[in-house]
Amino acid sequence: MNQTYDVVVVGAGMGGLTTAAYAARAGRQVLLLERGPEPGGLFGSFKSGPYTFDHGARAVENSGIMFPMFKQLGLKLDFVKSPVNIGSGKHFVPITSDVELEPYAQFLMKLFPQEEKAIRLICKDIVKISLQMRVLYGIENPLFIDDAYTNMTYLTKTLLPWALKFMVTMPRTQRYFTPIKEHLLQFTNNPSLIDFISQHFFEETPAIFAMSYFSLYTDYNYPKGGTGAVVKAMVKFFQDHQGELKLKSEVTEIDLDQQLVTIKTGESYRYKTLVWAGSPPMMHRVVKSNKPKLIKNQQLAIAKTKKGKGADSVMTVFMKVKDPKRKLAKQAGMHTFFTPYLDGLTAHSIDLIKQKDGTFIADKDKIFNWIKEWYRRNTYEISVPVLRDPTLAPEDESGFIVSLLLDYQLTKFIADQGWYEDLKQLSNQYFVDILDQTWIPGLKAGAYEMMHASPLTMEKFAAVHEGSLSGWSFANKPMLSEFLFTRVAKSINTPYPNVFQAGQWAFAPAGLPTCALTGKLAADKVIKLTKET
Ligand SMILES: Cc1cc2nc3c(=O)[nH]c(=O)nc-3n(C[C@H](O)[C@H](O)[C@H](O)COP(=O)(O)OP(=O)(O)OC[C@H]3O[C@@H](n4cnc5c(N)ncnc54)[C@H](O)[C@@H]3O)c2cc1C
Repeated sequence: MNQTYDVVVVGAGMGGLTTAAYAARAGRQVLLLERGPEPGGLFGSFKSGPYTFDHGARAVENSGIMFPMFKQLGLKLDFVKSPVNIGSGKHFVPITSDVELEPYAQFLMKLFPQEEKAIRLICKDIVKISLQMRVLYGIENPLFIDDAYTNMTYLTKTLLPWALKFMVTMPRTQRYFTPIKEHLLQFTNNPSLIDFISQHFFEETPAIFAMSYFSLYTDYNYPKGGTGAVVKAMVKFFQDHQGELKLKSEVTEIDLDQQLVTIKTGESYRYKTLVWAGSPPMMHRVVKSNKPKLIKNQQLAIAKTKKGKGADSVMTVFMKVKDPKRKLAKQAGMHTFFTPYLDGLTAHSIDLIKQKDGTFIADKDKIFNWIKEWYRRNTYEISVPVLRDPTLAPEDESGFIVSLLLDYQLTKFIADQGWYEDLKQLSNQYFVDILDQTWIPGLKAGAYEMMHASPLTMEKFAAVHEGSLSGWSFANKPMLSEFLFTRVAKSINTPYPNVFQAGQWAFAPAGLPTCALTGKLAADKVIKLTKET
């Protein structure tokens, strides 16, 4: 007889870990199945010799969710503030406030002196959005406060006044749901300025989410020991509460009728409730039922997600650099978005390397020249872990994590043509060259080892649909996940009985706070549906 669990969670990324931790805390018998050899999924760090690098998010945004969750679970984590800089050429601005944007305005005016009027209007608009976001994320999320609904002081002094402000503010946010590029056109038709402000956001990101990054930039915190320290603490909490984690256990079948989940090696486990915290297309592929209604639900879901586009993916180069006195690291800053040139990406569409039928041109020179130009015009996200925690690299050396957005389908096409090794070489070389030439002289001479992670690496590493680093793309019409704050509670539902979802595919915009939020919502649901054993 197979063992029956109150809750089986599939996927030990931050979404699954959150559900598993809370369900175990509530005394439920929980089995967490993870296909990879390590927990964490897209989030976490890896060791390479004496270096620690983060392979997912470069820091943790609180958003009124993450810190309350760590506190509620009693996790012992040590964070340092991790401020973000924005730079181009020799000009830089640290983002220290979401409403005092004069330094940012001055910085933009140095780069685009003809655009003073537009820049002033854009900054005013960002402040407006930031103030709205302060309301939306303005209090510690009550889901992560144990007595939120019974503590009268909290209820009357914090929650109710916030709920009123929330109701007034919500309708005002509606006009900011147009994609950021389109939204900025009301202030300027200078494509370079629009690109500079927006090109590192995902395709068609609504203005409200893109511009609210100014709040998030001031809300980044870095865990001592690297982002993997968070994963380790979550796993420890789960196991300390009698949770069972099985690694290298890919779920290959969910029998909805028997409530039985089977992994690749053949073992099966009965579940009372199941939470899927991996990519949805795989869930819809592995479910099985003899009930016509459920078969129909499955077919509809497959049809809906088949054409679904994952959000953008990235090419990352991890650099080990000889760096006496960490001079190069200090020049780079802890976490920076750097745009070497101001031409912008809009004029360099991916359609330039596509045929009329939408497939890529099988011409290696054309493709690689397009990529070089894509890299030249792009915005680089650079993170230097050792500046937040000196134990993450050897003395007089620094690790750099350098990334930019890169199309998954193009990377796959390159791999299919047998050119993947060339793409890797090009990226390693180009990233270090461009930063050395435009910003950090000496980086090239110091860099002695490089590793890369492409959209295909992410797909392979976390079985993530199209290498997406944040769930479904905003470009899907209609959207494939919930995206309205008022509907977040519905985001965990699937078309299958006793099966729920959590993580980055459930709600947009996705990221760690979304994973924690949907993970907790899913946990509350399955806790309610199962009795303590
Ligand atoms: C480079 C990069 C930068 C990022 N930057 C930020 C940022 O600045 N801020 C932010 O908030 N977020 C950021 N993110 C996004 C954030 O890291 C992810 O949204 C989040 O980690 C996703 O967690 P998840 O649990 O939803 O999914 P995942 O991390 O994808 O976890 C899913 C897990 O399920 C497992 N799995 C899948 N299928 C099966 C199966 N059949 N059986 C068993 N296990 C299975 C996978 O192996 C994986 O471990 C970034 C991500 C990346 C990659």
